[in-house]
Amino acid sequence: MAYKRQTVPSRNSSCVAMSASRRLKLNPPSPGSDSCESGVVNERVLALVFESIQWDISTICLTSSVNRKLRAIAKRVLWRGLCLHRAPRMVSALAGGVPNGRFSGGWQALAKVMFFCCGCESTRHFKVSQPSPGHFVNGSRFSKTSGRSFLTKKCRGDLLYVSDPCEHPAGDKDDDLGIYRGVFSEFMRSRTRAYLIGRRVELEERVSCPYCGARVWSMTTARLVPKSAARRLGSQDGGLDYFVCVNGHLHGSCWLVPLSSDEDRDSGGDDEEDGSDGDGGVGEIDKEADRTVSNGSVEVIG
Ligand SMILES: [Zn+2]
Ligand SMILES: [Zn+2]
Repeated sequence: MAYKRQTVPSRNSSCVAMSASRRLKLNPPSPGSDSCESGVVNERVLALVFESIQWDISTICLTSSVNRKLRAIAKRVLWRGLCLHRAPRMVSALAGGVPNGRFSGGWQALAKVMFFCCGCESTRHFKVSQPSPGHFVNGSRFSKTSGRSFLTKKCRGDLLYVSDPCEHPAGDKDDDLGIYRGVFSEFMRSRTRAYLIGRRVELEERVSCPYCGARVWSMTTARLVPKSAARRLGSQDGGLDYFVCVNGHLHGSCWLVPLSSDEDRDSGGDDEEDGSDGDGGVGEIDKEADRTVSNGSVEVIG
C-alpha cells in the first residue's frame, strides 16, 4: 500500500486518499470487530443474542434476509450455532469429531436437512400422482443405524445419518408416502463417492439437492440401494428411491406399507441417535424416545 502511494504523483494525492478510504470502508471488519459498523453485525454480540433465544430458526431466517452482510454472518455463525445447539453429537460426528470442523455443503444446508422435509415429486424411478410439498419439521430423529441400512456392503464403512420417514398422505393410494433425508460425514472421502466416481455414474439431469442446490446421483441408477433400506423404512423392495448430492446430502421417498401388529419399522437395535429438538434447548434425544418434541413456531427456512 505504502509502495503504491509513493509511485503516484502528488497532485493526485487527494484521489489516492479517497480511494484508500473507500477501500477501508469496503473491507469487511475483522471477526469480532465493531469499529466500522454498529454492534448489530458484531459476530460475538449476535452469537450471544441468538444463544439467549436458543438459536430460534425464524429469527435466523429473518436476520439473514436483511442484507448480504447479515446473510454471510448467518451462514458462518448463526446456522452453525443452531446445528450445534440442537444436535451436538451428530454435528461432532459429521465433522469428524471436531465441533468446529468444516464439511462440504455448509451450515445452512445442514440446518435445512435437520429442519426441512423436502417433499416429493415424480422421478425416473419413483412415480407419484401428484407432488407432495416440502414443509418445516418441528423435530426429527436422525440415526446412523438407520443410515447404515442405506449403505451397500461395500460402502458400510461410511458414516451416514438418515431421518425417520416423514409420512405424507398420497391421495388416491392406500400407502402413504414416506419422505426422508440424511447427510454423510466426510463425503469427499467416502466409499460411496469413490464408487460413484469410479463407476462413472452420471449425475441426474432433472433433480438437484433440495438442501444445497448441487447436482445429485440417483442411488437407484447407481445400483446402490440395499434391501435393508426398504426394511428400515417399512417399505417394499423397489418401493423407494433416493439421491445423494455431491456435498453428501441424501433425500428420498418411499411407499410406506401399513404396519402389522408384529412389525415395527424401528426395530433393529439402534445404537445412538441424535436429532433436532424444539423445547427446552435439549440437543439430543433419548435413546428410548420415538421422536423429538416440537415447538411449532417456525414457518420458513433459508
Ligand atoms: Zn414431510
Ligand atoms: Zn446437497
